[in-house]
Amino acid sequence: MSLRDTDKSIIGEVWTSTEAIDNLSNLCSFGSRFGGSESERLAVDYMVSKFAEYGMDRAAKEHFHHLGWTRGTASVGTVAPIVKEFDCISLPHVGNANVTGDLVYVGYGTSHEFDALRDEIAGKIVMINTRSPSYFPRPIHRKEKLGRAVEGGAAGVVFMRWEPGMLAETGSTFHDRECPIPAIGVSREVGEEWRRMGKGGVPVTLRIRLSNQFKPQADSWNVVGEITGRTKPEEIVVVGAHFDGHDIAPGAMDDGAGAAVVMEASRALAMHKASIKRTIRFCCFSIEEIGLQGSTNYVRAHQDELDRITFMLNLDGAGRGDASKDLAIQGSTELIPYLRRLASSMNEPMAVDNNIVLFTDCFPFLAAGVPAATAANLGGQTTGVRGFGHTAADTLDKVALRDLQSAAIRVARLILRVANADDWPAKRMSTEQVREVIGPSGLEVLRLAGRTEFPR
Ligand SMILES: [Zn+2]
Repeated sequence: MSLRDTDKSIIGEVWTSTEAIDNLSNLCSFGSRFGGSESERLAVDYMVSKFAEYGMDRAAKEHFHHLGWTRGTASVGTVAPIVKEFDCISLPHVGNANVTGDLVYVGYGTSHEFDALRDEIAGKIVMINTRSPSYFPRPIHRKEKLGRAVEGGAAGVVFMRWEPGMLAETGSTFHDRECPIPAIGVSREVGEEWRRMGKGGVPVTLRIRLSNQFKPQADSWNVVGEITGRTKPEEIVVVGAHFDGHDIAPGAMDDGAGAAVVMEASRALAMHKASIKRTIRFCCFSIEEIGLQGSTNYVRAHQDELDRITFMLNLDGAGRGDASKDLAIQGSTELIPYLRRLASSMNEPMAVDNNIVLFTDCFPFLAAGVPAATAANLGGQTTGVRGFGHTAADTLDKVALRDLQSAAIRVARLILRVANADDWPAKRMSTEQVREVIGPSGLEVLRLAGRTEFPR
């Protein structure tokens, strides 16, 4: 079959099927798929059976252990200037707490804002908004903000969601140990009420009480479906997205949609597996939300294959409108002209440029030097805001079948070409090259986020 006929088959098959949204709907029906939960276990078995049904040459779950965490109760209130209770949520891997302290607002939590308040943070409860400001030269992850608060000696941290709507936003703190200080999420409306209370320098005193549970050696699994390459089986292309969500929502957008796109691309390509040269591994990673644990464990467990992974494509965010239409290359810049030519030959308006992302599943691959890219919207107007991701409103109604299909078609056509390319320009990077690619500011962010095991 010609490439054009294969394209037609992929496009026709995906566009006329409801499989992508059916899979997403089923994944969401299990629950959040949060690491260590019953819904995770159900989703894992479901995805293994789907990969087998699609005709993968191998469909399996790959086990690892992690420090499990379960949400208990959380309350926050002002004790001065007035006594009042407010809604809040614990952030994952926060333990038990009963702290009282004066509130200090540090805005976006940039390094400059923290520096300016250096002497006012120790012993206080620091409030930071969740936005990554567009004027700052790079996105600022929650873990970096938290790291600066911990280093400043804060007694606790409150993340105020930037977008209004009475929603609190969750997100990882630490993954391999308890967060050293209590950290909670509150809505924009709650945070702004506290800021008004403190107008003119009036001290606002908060009391935070939290109770949560840890479980050492909790179980988790990545799910892998493989099309074994017909002529170059030893060379591997990895296509992955995390299937876990945060425990407060079904995680339909983040990232059930990405997992559904991986599965749908696998289904479309399995129909043409006789003509696929390199091995393609479709990976649904677990526990991305709490420290990229699934992908980190995958890279660790597959050390002896890393030299042979020619490309890793991460699809966190795929299937949400334009969110995944472009490719952010992770340091392997020789891929930029190559993939631009490929996109042009596919008639895909796909921007391709270098843009390192430290907090998604391609990162453990980059850290090990594997050529990688992540689906992104490189010209996006929504930089620095999260939408409904990480809130209780990340529900199935936010995802459209056509968006899942468009993403699955784009991915399947791209990966078909990558797996069958005669020449492939990218090679594994050395640790030195990886450090250079991440750069001094990236390495500082990793240090603040407690990720000193990276690179390698
Ligand atoms: Zn995600």
